[in-house]
Amino acid sequence: MIIKPKVRGFVCITAHPTGCAAHVQQQIDHVKAKGPIQGGPKRALIIGASTGYGLGSRIAAAFGSQCATLGVFFERPSEEGRPATPGWYNSIAFTRAARADGLYAGNVNGDAFSDDIKQQTLAMLARDMGPVDLVVYSLASPRRTHPRTGVVHKSALKPIGAAYTNKTVDTDKGIVSTVTIEPADELEAADTVAVMGGEDWEMWMQALADARLLAPGATAMAYTYVGPSHTWPIYRDGTIGRAKIDLERAARAIDAKLKSHGGRAFISVNKALVTQASSAIPVVPLYISILYKIMKAKGLHEGCGEQMQRLFATQLYNGNRLNLDRDGRARVDDWEMRADVQQEVADLWPLVTTENLAALTDIAGYRAEFLKLFGFGLPGVDYEAEVEPHLPLT
Ligand code: NAD
Repeated sequence: MIIKPKVRGFVCITAHPTGCAAHVQQQIDHVKAKGPIQGGPKRALIIGASTGYGLGSRIAAAFGSQCATLGVFFERPSEEGRPATPGWYNSIAFTRAARADGLYAGNVNGDAFSDDIKQQTLAMLARDMGPVDLVVYSLASPRRTHPRTGVVHKSALKPIGAAYTNKTVDTDKGIVSTVTIEPADELEAADTVAVMGGEDWEMWMQALADARLLAPGATAMAYTYVGPSHTWPIYRDGTIGRAKIDLERAARAIDAKLKSHGGRAFISVNKALVTQASSAIPVVPLYISILYKIMKAKGLHEGCGEQMQRLFATQLYNGNRLNLDRDGRARVDDWEMRADVQQEVADLWPLVTTENLAALTDIAGYRAEFLKLFGFGLPGVDYEAEVEPHLPLT
């Protein structure tokens, strides 16, 4: 099969297996080039391990610290005439590379919110790895079927309290326009908390504790975003922000439990990056396009792999300490939030139009990063060649 990108709005419905493998390899090469991460994890469970920040975390743990990893994710395998989702190919590439280096890599593909997938994961951990010293919770999902009630909660990406009007960009067509997003009602806000809040993370931690699969001193972490004030109505103060407040509540509750065994739980605030999850949030892709332009010019740009390598190497391990803010969160969005970077974003924001989009922003970089998520545009990959789309998850 010859596989080309087919972009539909903010998703690409095809993915390239060789390209995804090259993308994973780039992140592995970066972690290896940065050198070993001393005192790092030895057995890690990564929930949401196939793309974005979860994949970056898995790569930093495995290739920085020679860590055995079990990855949980929800990806679609290939079907007749249709390639798999990128996370499927990423996980195969990761697994091959880890095993080639003599590292254990196990995978569970299915709905992490369900009891069944939790039980499958615990069984695999008990059989293959033993108690984990790191749990990364990095799910980004549009819905969750609650395992106790059976209710399907759908997350919304909306402001709370009042409509929000701002500039946005159609990244596919390159059109800058003004968008107004009506506020969420209470049910939508509560549903978003049910999907992206902390209850499921707590369920995972409880299940691990009950099965005696948490090592003494274990670390648990999940991720959030804060960003500058022009994105607050849609992110920090919106439905997703409310879910993140609940995630922080869960972090404190988990931390209190882990502390009695010398462990810790916390939230890391990460940089805004092109991922499948962030491309779906209105206004954010325009912000990212401006941000990339500025951060690249200043030599500060990082991707998921670089962010996670930096978090592991300069804060979590290597004898270092977490760079905690007043709310007890680790910060690796420090370069994004630098005053000079944010001032330049604020200066450019009102000036951007459809006509000057390419000149004033890094929309080209945004698009290239977006296509890379699906394995397209990687150097050294022959996109005209036949490629086998049906690869088993090993
Ligand atoms: P992503 O879409 O790249 O990854 C999501 C992961 O969750 C994938 O591995 C996917 O398979 C898995 N997943 C989704 N639903 C699942 C389910 N039901 N069962 C099992 N696995 C499931 O997302 P991302 O952007 O890396 O986001 C991860 C975390 O990082 C989120 O908490 C997000 O809010 C946070 N974050 C993202 C950004 C950003 O700009 N992208 C910035 C800061 C923080």
